[in-house]
Amino acid sequence: MRSCPHCETNIANESKVCSNCNKAVPPLPNYPSISPKWFMVFFIFFVVLVVALLVSMFGMR
Ligand SMILES: [Zn+2]
Repeated sequence: MRSCPHCETNIANESKVCSNCNKAVPPLPNYPSISPKWFMVFFIFFVVLVVALLVSMFGMR
């Protein structure tokens, strides 16, 4: 729920028009939704990549 900027009435997040004053309400900013699972996958991939890079740089003597 959020409040209408015109009349402060609680309206649903997805509604484009206020149900009380019938004025258009600006849509919620649509943040890019990256789920924590994919964030962890990318994080682990990045860590593995960095470790592999460090091993290849300093591991060969
Ligand atoms: Zn309103």
